[in-house]
Order: sequence, then C-alpha cells, then structure tokens
Amino acid sequence: MPCSTCGTRLLIQNPPNWEKKCPTCDKIHVVNREVAVRISSERLLYVYDLFLRYVRQFKKTGLIAHIIWERERFARDFFDNYKPFDMSRFVAYNFLIKHLMMGKFNGTMDANESNTAELVKTFDRYLELLTDHIYLKEGFAELVADMPFDSSSLTVQEKLRFRIIRTEDYLPLLRTYANNQIYPEEEAKKITEGYRPEWERIKQKVEGEQGKKIAYNPRVFIHNSYSILNVLYCGLIKNAIYAETFDFSNYEGLVEEPSQIMDVANGFLLVAEYPTVTPLHEFRNALKRVFKGKAISAEPILLVTEKNPATFPLFILLEGNVFISHRTAFLVFALLHPILLKDYFHDETVKRSKELETTRAKDAFEKAGYTWVPSVTDKKKSTLEIDGLAGRNGTLFVVEVKGWGLTTFYEHKNRHEQLVKALKGIVDGTKYKMKGNKPVQKKIPSLLKKIEYAKFNMNKHGFDSNVFKTVKGVIVIEDFPPITEYKEIRIIGLEDVPLLK
Ligand SMILES: [Zn+2]
Repeated sequence: MPCSTCGTRLLIQNPPNWEKKCPTCDKIHVVNREVAVRISSERLLYVYDLFLRYVRQFKKTGLIAHIIWERERFARDFFDNYKPFDMSRFVAYNFLIKHLMMGKFNGTMDANESNTAELVKTFDRYLELLTDHIYLKEGFAELVADMPFDSSSLTVQEKLRFRIIRTEDYLPLLRTYANNQIYPEEEAKKITEGYRPEWERIKQKVEGEQGKKIAYNPRVFIHNSYSILNVLYCGLIKNAIYAETFDFSNYEGLVEEPSQIMDVANGFLLVAEYPTVTPLHEFRNALKRVFKGKAISAEPILLVTEKNPATFPLFILLEGNVFISHRTAFLVFALLHPILLKDYFHDETVKRSKELETTRAKDAFEKAGYTWVPSVTDKKKSTLEIDGLAGRNGTLFVVEVKGWGLTTFYEHKNRHEQLVKALKGIVDGTKYKMKGNKPVQKKIPSLLKKIEYAKFNMNKHGFDSNVFKTVKGVIVIEDFPPITEYKEIRIIGLEDVPLLK
C-alpha cells in the first residue's frame, strides 16, 4: 500500500525486517529513473572493468579449471546434502566460465582454492549489483542518494555510494519466491526441508538403492519432481542475464531425452574429492556411444572450447583434456526437462492448476471455517461456471481459482503487466489467448456477472439468502498477485485465504 499520508510508493528496507519508508515523508533522495539507470549502468561497467583487470592477472587455464572444480563441488554439496540452492552462485560459476573462455588473457598468478573462491564471491556480488540494476530498470527499485547532488559532476566513488532500494512493488515477487523456496541472497537461508523427499526421489534416479537405478521415464520424472524442476527453471531463468547464461536453445534437435547428458557424464568415473578429466578422444567416444550418428554435431553443442566458447559450459576442453562434472551435469539434466520437454511439463502444470481449483482451494477455505460448494453452474446447459462458493459469518464469496504463480523472467515488469491484464480480464470477462504471436481477446462470463448470479440464486446452491447478506468476489492464485483489488474484487494468494474478510 502506498504511503497513507501522501500516497507515494513506499521503499522497503533490507531483510529481515523489510521496514517501509516513504521517500517523501522520510525525505529520502530518490534519483529520477532516467538518471538512475544511467548512473547504475556506469558503475556496473566500472565494477566489471575492475574485476576483469584482476582476473587478467591469472594464468587463464588454471583459473578456469579451478572455477570448474568449484562449481562441481558446489553441485556435489547440493546433491549430497540438499542445502538451500544458491541460484546466484550457480549462475556466477557458469557465467564466469563462459566469459573467461571467451576472454584473451594470460597473467602470471596461479589460481588456488582460496583465491578462486574469493574471485567467485566478488563476481557473485557483481551479479547482485546487476540484478539490482534490473530491478531498477523494471521499476521494482529506486536509486537513492545520501544527499542532494549534481549529476553532471559526480565521481565514480560517489556513484558507487548510491544505494538501490526496492519498492513495495517488489513484495509480491519476494513472497512468491519465498513460497517457492527461492530466497534472496541476503535473507537468512532457511532449510528447505519441504522438498527433501522429492529430492531424495530425484537422487535415486542416479544412485538408487544398492546401486540399482530406478527406471527413468521423463514423464514420470516430471510428475514426481515437478516442484523442484519448476523452481530450478524459474529461478535460473528469472531475468535476462540469467537466461543468457542458461540458454539451451541449441540443444533442441540434438538432445532427445535429458538423460543423454547423464549418459555422457556417467561414462566416466566420479571420484570423491577430485575433478574428473579425460582425453578428448575418450570424450568423443562417449558422444558416439550416446548420440550415435549425431556425435559430430553434438560436439560443438556440448563441449566448450576456446574456439567454441558460446555454448553452455557443460563439458569443457582445456589443454587437450575434457572436464567431466557429474553433479553439475545432473543439475543441467534436471533443468532440461522443462526446457526440452515443454509439452510434458505444460501438461503437468495444467494438472496442478486443476488440483489447485478442486482440492487445495477447497481445503484452504474449509480450514479457514468456510462452507465450500465447488463448481457451481447456473443450469444444465451452463452459461457460467463458478469455481466455488465459500460462505462464512454472513458473507458469501464467489471464488475464482487460477494456478498462476512463479514463471520464468519473473523479474521483468512485462510478466507482471500480463498477469494484471489476465486478472482484470477475469473480472471484466475477457480472456487473452495467444494465436501465434498475437494475443486474441475472447469474451467469457465475467466475475461481476457471476457475483450477480450468486446474489439471486444462492439458495439453489445451499446458502440461505437470509443469512448471507453480503456477496463478494475473490480471485485466488497460486502465488502472490501484483494487484490486490480490482473493481472491489479482492485478488489474493492461496496462502492468504485465512486473512480474507
Ligand atoms: Zn508519504
């Protein structure tokens, strides 16, 4: 909610308190967006340049080899211990490997475990700055100065002191991330126990009891592991920068089943505490074994080399040897399901959406003390259908349920604008369908019309009109909506059903 005194959009301070401040009433110097984006871009360039200068002091091959091993240790740790997944760190490794492979440098410094870790951490901070920059550009944050300034005479040091502070528009994103167990880097890490059974099942795919792998079927795998796959997918492709790192579009047409990636990696021995490397010809044999006639075209897609640095850095050639990263490959294997098997994944999304409508919404309302009547239609050949009527304390809610929640590119404003449009469409009776690349409008019964219907026909559906004097509409979605009300209709996340009034 904007400031109650002056109506300005509030700023939210850092976790864990997320204290709110009004830029106007609390006299905070918010920089005009155009100037802010320019300042933010300039300092990003500056920081990146500093970083590059530092990196160029290292011997290239040794540094990249260390980062590959760091990445694999990170993946092994996640695989074995199932800790909260630090998305930004995983992005940092892959972004770095890709960009260092492209770079031309050869310094004199030797990379080792500690300076590599330090370097990745520094880069991680740069990525955070970059993510903040996206928030700023997309209107989820403001650039704030400590005191008034003249933008024409700012030094770099002064620009670096400006802070990017998120606005209250960021809160639904934050809650949606939390709901999906994705946490912003700076928030205290919570143990993601909720997903552990799912993770154990995923692990069985490669480990299995007594070394016996369970049979792999991609459809079953998506069904069993949907939540984790969706979190991985949306979390690693949450903005344009991340998406550029995790671009697997060239895998299409080559990789028929994500398990082929694992088949290549599993052709080599995984050794505790050591990275696995193999001569190029052995790697080529593995490609032949898995991809048969397509082995030659598979090589430039799966193997990053100095001459071929643009593909995703899954297997990497350094000085004649290929680095095989088993657990990294496993994470990629998981991530490829929503990307390469779009139809299966979509089917599962639809199935879960239905489940939300039929079971989970019912449970939420009943738990909050409502009487719930599902799928209400006006007549046999219905002209309108209501997902549910929920009555409590003299108020009857006409409930519309949608499985809308976390998506890819969630940190970009247009995703939220589309969602707002779709939510308003439910109220107004307009549905948007994509026909090719064009959205086409279709008329549907509006929620306003459904409310009118319920007002005059509730007795037919088990609600006494002498008791339920107030009839309201509410839209319930999976995660947290960017708007909370439209034409007096409340729009809430499933978790907020108990707070409904
Ligand atoms: Zn104010």
